[in-house]
Amino acid sequence: MKLKAGIYWGAGCGGCDVAVLDVHELILTVAEKMDLLFWPIALDFKYDDVRGMDDGEFDIVLYNGAVRNSENEEIARLLRKKSKVMVALGACAHLGGLPGLANFHSKDDLLKRVYIESESTINEEGTIPQEYWKEAGLPLELPRFYGTVKTLDQVVDVDYYIPGCPPVPQQIVNALVAVWEGNLPPKGSVIGAGSRTLCDECSRVKEEKEITEFKRTSEVITDPEKCLLEQGLLCLGPVTREGCGSRCINTNVPCRGCYGPLEGVPDQGIRMLSALASVLEPKEEEAIDELINQIPDPLRTFHRFSVAASILRRKKI
Ligand code: SF4
Ligand code: SF4
Repeated sequence: MKLKAGIYWGAGCGGCDVAVLDVHELILTVAEKMDLLFWPIALDFKYDDVRGMDDGEFDIVLYNGAVRNSENEEIARLLRKKSKVMVALGACAHLGGLPGLANFHSKDDLLKRVYIESESTINEEGTIPQEYWKEAGLPLELPRFYGTVKTLDQVVDVDYYIPGCPPVPQQIVNALVAVWEGNLPPKGSVIGAGSRTLCDECSRVKEEKEITEFKRTSEVITDPEKCLLEQGLLCLGPVTREGCGSRCINTNVPCRGCYGPLEGVPDQGIRMLSALASVLEPKEEEAIDELINQIPDPLRTFHRFSVAASILRRKKI
């Protein structure tokens, strides 16, 4: 009998859904073994259809995207109830991802920026979407926009994580194969990525040079053989889980950390700060400050994908 699967898109960019499509001909193998019963981006299947299913009827659900509003949370809870295995797919479900960067702002500031101030917006009446509204006597209701972006496991119990922004397509297939072969790792595991750092997988030469200055990628022509961090580019390889195949590094772009921290590391950004402290050349406080000041927006740079899952979680406003 075929397994029953579902895919849902919460607060994210849709890249994880594209990664699912990017499995190319492997989709035929998946289709032989599974019936995809719920995938709002591609199939016309309603929430009420899911509500009508038995509890645990889905063998696996891949939830991508963070939890940003009440609809994301409601569907996360519904899918959790209806699934045997719930997987957080991609950096947003896993760590909050780029949407989590909004946790550095208040809800009101975000709405004002998007609906009133943005350069591409014409909104002379200053209208901001309301949760409840009445138009021509008819009540309208929108999902509640949360003040804080949450990871999937801050809302429901998650069985496995597939990291990445987006995940490598083969790793998505591996997770599906593991379910139909009944060959799943212990609950809570990260699937499809290794346990070492990206630096361990990276083939660039490391000379253990100390860093004397930080530069932006646009300011240097990099040596394609040598470690980017040692060339002054802020690469999060030392604190990021291996498994993506060094996608960015191979195109001369430093790692931004989308595969998340290693097992047992509660805060990827703080770990990066401490990793950097040991490789800076200056040793006097003033010179260290000067060097650190060369990093544009360190808080967001170090926590680019992981604010919602970090110790900080959000800025106090
Ligand atoms: S810091 Fe970046 S470029 Fe250097 S070895 Fe690690 S992953 Fe490779
Ligand atoms: S190199 Fe880093 S940012 Fe790029 S895909 Fe890999 S883990 Fe993500």
